[in-house]
Amino acid sequence: MINLYSDTQTKPTAAMREAMAAAPVGDEQRNEDPTVNELCARVADLLGMEAAVFLPSGTMANELAIRIHCRPGDEIIAERSSHIINFEGGGPAAISGAMIHPIDGERGTFTVEQARAAIRPPSRYAPPTRLIEIEQTANFGGGTVWPLETIRDICDVGREHGLRLHLDGARLLNAVVASGVSAADYASGFDTAWIDLSKGLGCPVGSVLAGSTELIDEVWPWKQRLGGAMRQAGIIAAAGLHALDHHVDRLADDHANARRFAEGISEVPGIEADPSTVDTNIVFFDVKATGHSGADIASALAETGVRIGAMGPTRMRAVTHLDVDAEGIETAIEAVSAVISGS
Ligand SMILES: *Cc1c(COP(=O)(O)O)cnc(C)c1O
Repeated sequence: MINLYSDTQTKPTAAMREAMAAAPVGDEQRNEDPTVNELCARVADLLGMEAAVFLPSGTMANELAIRIHCRPGDEIIAERSSHIINFEGGGPAAISGAMIHPIDGERGTFTVEQARAAIRPPSRYAPPTRLIEIEQTANFGGGTVWPLETIRDICDVGREHGLRLHLDGARLLNAVVASGVSAADYASGFDTAWIDLSKGLGCPVGSVLAGSTELIDEVWPWKQRLGGAMRQAGIIAAAGLHALDHHVDRLADDHANARRFAEGISEVPGIEADPSTVDTNIVFFDVKATGHSGADIASALAETGVRIGAMGPTRMRAVTHLDVDAEGIETAIEAVSAVISGS
């Protein structure tokens, strides 16, 4: 099976499982798990923040950050395709009572002018703008890397208006490897930032949310309330430490594989794919001109042992990761070509 459905599909490697089995553990919610403590210190340092907290998922990282930044009625500025709008079960409304002002951006990113225009002047009638959230990389934008300049300008405008800033860094390290800009540089203008361990880093579970000591202290009661406080979580945190040691530089392979996949399928008649827009490990493509739906192509591909997701009527997404190598990519390209030509 060549599984390009998502980089969440990775299985822990034998070496990762060994690290997990050997991890010293303690009571995470009492800060007594040495492996969790080490992971949090390491990620805080990586992101240039004072403190960090280990969480079961990236969704919880976003939702807890939004909860501490926003009060009911507050408005969040985010790109229309963002994870917090589309894939968190309405969490910002359900958990924080916050509204979201969606920006129609370009491949999941927006400009400083768009951010400025979305900030509402103080008014008794309007919801108070409170937070700007950006995703690095932008998942449904196609793994797009935001330029550092744009991020800095948007953070500056946010600060001028007294707003909070949150970085959804589910795939921040993909951006780091693709651009050569450090994670701390990307995160420096934000109040809170996090990385996901269970995407391209290949861990089974977990995310780490970082910020000032004061903000992370505010996160803790919400982590407790929502059931995110854990016990001997070092067993999963150990996977994160292992991934930071062994699975970061290799993200470059995933990026090369994604680019190659986009190039390969762009030559298949009826497929619209633009390799020049593949910044990292995510490839979106359109199959409209083949006359087939994305769902039909996905199920035909599954029968050949290749899994690719249909993300709209004719829009499909392939995501590369450490369980798919260059040879697997060639096989996947051939499978797409065969399915489309009906052979
Ligand atoms: C996957 C993802 C999340 C959520 O992370 P989970 O660990 O799956 O809960 C948030 N934001 C983005 C951009 C993601 O891709």
